[in-house]
Amino acid sequence: HVKSNSLPHFQVFDKHFSQHVYFNKEVAGFIKDALRKNEFYLQYMPIHEAQSLKVVALEVLLRTTSKKMEGIGPDVFIPIAEKFNLIKEIDAWVIENTFSIIKENYTYLEATKPIFCINISSEQLRNTNFVGLLSRLLKQYDIPAEWIELELTETSLVNVEDKNIEVLQGIRELGVRLSLDDYGTGYISFNQLINYPVNNLKIDKSFIDLLEKKDDASKMIVKSIHSLATTYQLTTVAEGVETIEQYRYLSELGCDFLQGYLFCKPVPWDQVKTLLDPSHTEKLRESLREKSL
Ligand code: C2E
Ligand code: MG
Ligand code: MG
Ligand code: MG
Repeated sequence: HVKSNSLPHFQVFDKHFSQHVYFNKEVAGFIKDALRKNEFYLQYMPIHEAQSLKVVALEVLLRTTSKKMEGIGPDVFIPIAEKFNLIKEIDAWVIENTFSIIKENYTYLEATKPIFCINISSEQLRNTNFVGLLSRLLKQYDIPAEWIELELTETSLVNVEDKNIEVLQGIRELGVRLSLDDYGTGYISFNQLINYPVNNLKIDKSFIDLLEKKDDASKMIVKSIHSLATTYQLTTVAEGVETIEQYRYLSELGCDFLQGYLFCKPVPWDQVKTLLDPSHTEKLRESLREKSL
């Protein structure tokens, strides 16, 4: 009796499970293909100083032209790359290609010195060659280390051991900055946080979304993350700012930097020059003034 009852249930579960495994395997194959055929490219999303709205940093985001991967974004394929041991190659590709773009455009970047924020997988914390690779590429492309910031997700740091903190320290010793991405979605306690040599917290979009609710409790969460950051002398970036109301609240709160579709979506490199021009900041301020009327 029990057996006949549980069997179909088991089959349903198993079917979903194997479909999921099949999908992941298939995508892993597409990623390998794309790497081999060089079907990746980078987009850049500006991060604005909250008070002036000046573009002070650019987050580097991975994109693919692979037809097979149409509709599959990095939020899906990066975790698969991590599972299938392809992430080291991807992260190295992103770092090297970012450095190469910086080197090509060095003279004009020197005028505004935007920080380039590169996402890396927590897998690199277990990669004893990572600091060496980073150091070698910085030298090879002649990149000032302080122009680079690496973003690691908070969730990925939850199981950090002392060994991993050594990698973080190694990165900081090179002069490269560190940022905690999607902050608030993991479970890092305040006293753990002080052990991490990070410069910046990126407050996760889910908390910025909460600001649309009119109750004070939702706002308190963002407020307390910001004040925690300030206590530890960390700067804050609000991720995923989409409305004027969020912008107003965050800038009044004293959040240091803002990023989101309200200001700009990720763009290809040929549009970055325009974003760094002072006239862009003027236009942005003007358009936000109009929207808030
Ligand atoms: P993330 O690092 O938290 O990046 C922010 C993501 O939120 C980006 O999505 C960005 O386009 C999106 N976003 C920013 N502002 C807004 C907004 O106002 N509204 C909405 N709806 N979305 C916004 P994207 O490019 O799809 O990247 C997703 C995730 O994939 C990233 O999250 C990051 O974890 C990972 N990723 C992207 N590129 C790379 C990479 O080169 N290497 C690694 N290891 N991971 C990457
Ligand atoms: Mg990021
Ligand atoms: Mg994030
Ligand atoms: Mg994210």
